[in-house]
Amino acid sequence: MSMRIGYGFDSHAFKAGVPLVIGGLKIEHDEGLAGHSDGDVLLHAITDALLGAVSAGDIGSFFPPSDPRWKNAASSIFLATALEEIAIAGYRIVNIDTVLVLAQPKIGPISGDLRQSVADLLAVSPRDVGIKAKTPEGMNLDHVAMAHATVLLESIDLPAGAERMVAEAESDAEIDGVVESLVGGKRDFSALGRKLPGFDTDDLT
Ligand SMILES: [Zn+2]
Repeated sequence: MSMRIGYGFDSHAFKAGVPLVIGGLKIEHDEGLAGHSDGDVLLHAITDALLGAVSAGDIGSFFPPSDPRWKNAASSIFLATALEEIAIAGYRIVNIDTVLVLAQPKIGPISGDLRQSVADLLAVSPRDVGIKAKTPEGMNLDHVAMAHATVLLESIDLPAGAERMVAEAESDAEIDGVVESLVGGKRDFSALGRKLPGFDTDDLT
């Protein structure tokens, strides 16, 4: 088994007239976070931590702010893409830890809901999600929200038998041979009306 760590940081300024969304949770407050998307500073930091852990770039390379498709987009879309990337790389989340830095609103009363929301979006237990809130003491940044995130991943190891089959079926001819022996015929994906599976993420950027 192999392990990887990732780290992400993000910041957004507060802005009147937009809803405040943090960790996928809509929070009662008189200001929201300015951004091309919904400005969810916590999900953006977690997305970058996940992408960084598998060296898959960053949130800007997948979702450039210049693309009008991501205007006011829910940041859960960004997170879902990062989760796909770590799955394609063969990893899953062990745990994540985060720090939210903001003067207002107070996170204490909603910390349980926030943790549950992030855990749901990551499809992990709330026990594996840390969210700590700090005020930006001495930084003169009371009108900004910042988030730091670290994530630990572990490889999804195939069972010993499956690993052996993958190693044995290295060439196309060998795969054909294996399939033939299993079902008595050649592979014919065209008959199923679909192409061979691929991991083309070009359409995401
Ligand atoms: Zn952001």
